[in-house]
Amino acid sequence: MRKYRMLRERLSSSGEFAFELAPLAPRETIELAHDHDYVTAFLEGTLPAAMVRRIGFPWSRELVLRTLASVGGTLAATAEALRSGWGGTLAGGTHHAFREYGSGFCVFNDIAVTLRAHPSLRPAAVIDLDVHQGDGTAAIFEGEPGVVTFSMHGRNNFPFRKQRSKIDIELEDGTGDAEYLERLGPALEQVFAARPALVIYQAGVDPLATDRLGRLRLTPEGLLRRDELVFTACRRAGIPVVVTLGGGYSEPVDATVEAHAATFLLARRMLG
Ligand SMILES: [Zn+2]
Repeated sequence: MRKYRMLRERLSSSGEFAFELAPLAPRETIELAHDHDYVTAFLEGTLPAAMVRRIGFPWSRELVLRTLASVGGTLAATAEALRSGWGGTLAGGTHHAFREYGSGFCVFNDIAVTLRAHPSLRPAAVIDLDVHQGDGTAAIFEGEPGVVTFSMHGRNNFPFRKQRSKIDIELEDGTGDAEYLERLGPALEQVFAARPALVIYQAGVDPLATDRLGRLRLTPEGLLRRDELVFTACRRAGIPVVVTLGGGYSEPVDATVEAHAATFLLARRMLG
């Protein structure tokens, strides 16, 4: 949890960004991607205990506000991307949330809600480079050819039962920079061959070698090169891109904060 505040302070002190408080997402918008009864039970605090356990956070009023702001932040970042070419949120990327339940610290799927809120932007692409598969996003859009879900993740990592994205790349434990980047390039070409009108980037930094949960061996330089490949492809295609935060669990936490900050600073430099 500490990383959120630290990242905000780190980017704030860079003087490179204009910040806006994330608005709370309206429930009607959330229900474009989520089951009405699930949304109601979460908002009212009446989810069954097993469903709360699967999310992984204890329920509280603060969690409701945090969740609504997290989805609202991605919606607002998308509005900014459509205005200026790119927008970012210092939260979001909650890709383990399914239509009818949350999982893995994800309550609602901000990426899915946002794409559903913009049905005219098709095809659209999700580039999910968090070390964990974007299983909720994959499942929500499984029957929608207009949403190209791409996830590159650890084969032996959570979620242990994988869903089917349009493009999945599974990496073995210990994968380092060279192999990671070699596999990313052609997959990005495949994504952009679909000529997406919008890209949502889940830029999780948990592929870092220092990550407690990641099981991969990327260096900070390799991770930044990853972001550069993504932003270069977006810039070439001339399409709006939304940067969402995703996971990051390095010990000490500073490595995670620095990696997230590097992603946003690079976006600023490359995308304006
Ligand atoms: Zn993750």
